[in-house]
Amino acid sequence: MIHIKTSFKEEWQKDVFDQTLCNYGVDTIDGENYYIPSEVWAINSQRIMYFCVMHEDDGSVHWEGVEECPDENWNAVWESEHPVQELPLGIRIIPHCAFGAGYHETTSMMIDYLQQSAVSRQHSVFRKVLDHGTGTGVLAIFAKRLGAEHVVAVDIDEKSVANAKENAALNGEEIEVLHASAFSRQPSAFSLILANIHRNILLEYMPSYAASLTTGGELWMSGFYEEDCPVLIEAAAANGLRHLATHAKNEWRMLMFGKTINN
Ligand code: SAH
Repeated sequence: MIHIKTSFKEEWQKDVFDQTLCNYGVDTIDGENYYIPSEVWAINSQRIMYFCVMHEDDGSVHWEGVEECPDENWNAVWESEHPVQELPLGIRIIPHCAFGAGYHETTSMMIDYLQQSAVSRQHSVFRKVLDHGTGTGVLAIFAKRLGAEHVVAVDIDEKSVANAKENAALNGEEIEVLHASAFSRQPSAFSLILANIHRNILLEYMPSYAASLTTGGELWMSGFYEEDCPVLIEAAAANGLRHLATHAKNEWRMLMFGKTINN
């Protein structure tokens, strides 16, 4: 087992770092300690080191070194120390290696507006909800808890799918969790689509989002910055989606769109 120790200037930098190291096969993250099975290290050490050093150069990570340590069931150790994240509405999330403990700005903005909409709109967009890129399942679970009739959650990453299923069960919410890179284009299937993913993926799926919304349905997206908004708004407009609102939390942005005509 390899142990990497780091420290970060800001919490969001750690989130990005965590997600990348998970993709490289990091087994367990305990605060600023990362544990990597030796066999994964043998294959990915160069990529991991390169990533760490690159971020040390830009000042976001302080790299304290790598050491070998005895094999242990670090997941079990981690889980016993960090059992669950407690979120509003009594929602509890075990994040494992999936993104979406609920505290990141891109997630918490979506949660805030899910809560506000549930109150103010008497659930009009909460009929059938799609959570594209569900991670831990956090947004899907909030949508269901707030009254959505049916929620479909998809993720490209197998570990996230397993984690989302586990969290749905932990919260007693029935959610259809699918392992998929997207969702099959079901015309007018969803009254609300939630997508907290990278800008380029959002752009790629814009036509599918538009086609899959019911008339009067809404698309809410986050996971990008101010400078990404114009291109996303333009792509949405080209697919018949009207810009309804922009929200901000620190440097992160969230966009809301509505579908007024069938396309
Ligand atoms: N919805 C959660 C997690 C967001 S992280 C939250 O708001 O906190 C983004 C997730 O999208 C990751 O779990 C990643 O595996 C997934 N993802 C990335 N590209 C995808 C794609 N093309 N299709 C489905 N899921 C994707």
